[in-house]
Amino acid sequence: MFEAMKKTVHPEVARILEACLEGRELPEADAERLLVAEGGDLHALMWAADTVRRDDVGDDVTYVVCRNVNFTNVCYVGCSFCGFARHKHQSDAYDHDISTLLDKCAEAIERGATEICMQGGIHPKKNHDDYRRVVLAIKERFPELHLHAFSPEEIDWGHRKSDMELQDYLQWLMDAGVGSLPGTAAEILDDEIRDILSPRKIKTQRWVEIIRTAHGLGLPTTSTLMYGHIEQPRHVAAHLGLIREIQKETGGFTEFVPLGYIHEMNDLYNVLGSRPGSTAFEDLRLVAVSRLFMRSHIQNIQVSWVKMGHKLGQMALSAGANDFGGTLMEESISRESGSQFGENTSPEDFRRLIREIGRTPVERSTLYRSLRRFDDPALDPADAEDKAFRASEEASRLSVAL
Ligand code: SF4
Repeated sequence: MFEAMKKTVHPEVARILEACLEGRELPEADAERLLVAEGGDLHALMWAADTVRRDDVGDDVTYVVCRNVNFTNVCYVGCSFCGFARHKHQSDAYDHDISTLLDKCAEAIERGATEICMQGGIHPKKNHDDYRRVVLAIKERFPELHLHAFSPEEIDWGHRKSDMELQDYLQWLMDAGVGSLPGTAAEILDDEIRDILSPRKIKTQRWVEIIRTAHGLGLPTTSTLMYGHIEQPRHVAAHLGLIREIQKETGGFTEFVPLGYIHEMNDLYNVLGSRPGSTAFEDLRLVAVSRLFMRSHIQNIQVSWVKMGHKLGQMALSAGANDFGGTLMEESISRESGSQFGENTSPEDFRRLIREIGRTPVERSTLYRSLRRFDDPALDPADAEDKAFRASEEASRLSVAL
């Protein structure tokens, strides 16, 4: 098939894709070339990434039943792309107390969640003890929940407030019950870009230090990239290169998630004049390049349905991705920047969307343990059975642990 396709492909792109299909590692310079692929080149790129995805991870599409919990939207870091943060005197500022957070966790479990993804603004009055107190309270009441919590920015803040070494601080959070870290706050790992996006945010070196230290302790993280604003393909290629380099060293990334920038309601677009987010082609290109670039290092390339919507998400799953992300149940960060794609995708919707593109839905844990395959739609569980399954899974997991 590739031979026929080559007639419409630039010779340089054909050479790069052939090397990828032969299993050779994609160099950064070639990734940069693919990041501007258009027309026949783009179609060939998507086909190659989809082929590699099928060869490497098969036709399953995974998703996780999870809830986002943002404990506060008060933040004084001032990232120009953020529509979520509030100053504490704004009428819609919030800082949830522990009982509200526990209620949210209880609701999530009621709806079948296995994971709570907890992040918030950098509240100037919060410190390391506040973060740990929340973790302890949640894990005491809901030991079965996986707590995917605290971005490297929050880790940096809590660590600076504590008197501990970074390694000890992370271990202290792990001992309290943090199971993995979101690899957010990465945006573009290039200080030239970060200084424009968020001059007060942690620099590249600090993000890398936190991630490497977490991985060294056996604390897994995800990895992300935010694109479609002021970056150039060379910044994206270098970011991918840095993530791959860390992964070769630590093996601690569970997934890579390209996150399209949402432009409507923030200063980066309205004041600083960034691009108005990514195009659909850019979204597909980046997913495809990510699959080829991370091959054999990071197997899970996730589609962000919050950023792309369901239909483009289905396309991206046909261009190299294998994971549809989480149900979320509640989502403020993208919505308050202007995303129109809602806050919740139910497990039933995930299964339908995945089957519509001819693939097999698989519910996974945060760390990509396969929980259930759904080979036959006729055998899909009713809602109540879903919950009973999760309760018995957890009971057997706990009895093994004991
Ligand atoms: S992106 Fe995070 S750190 Fe930056 S302003 Fe928004 S909430 Fe604060």
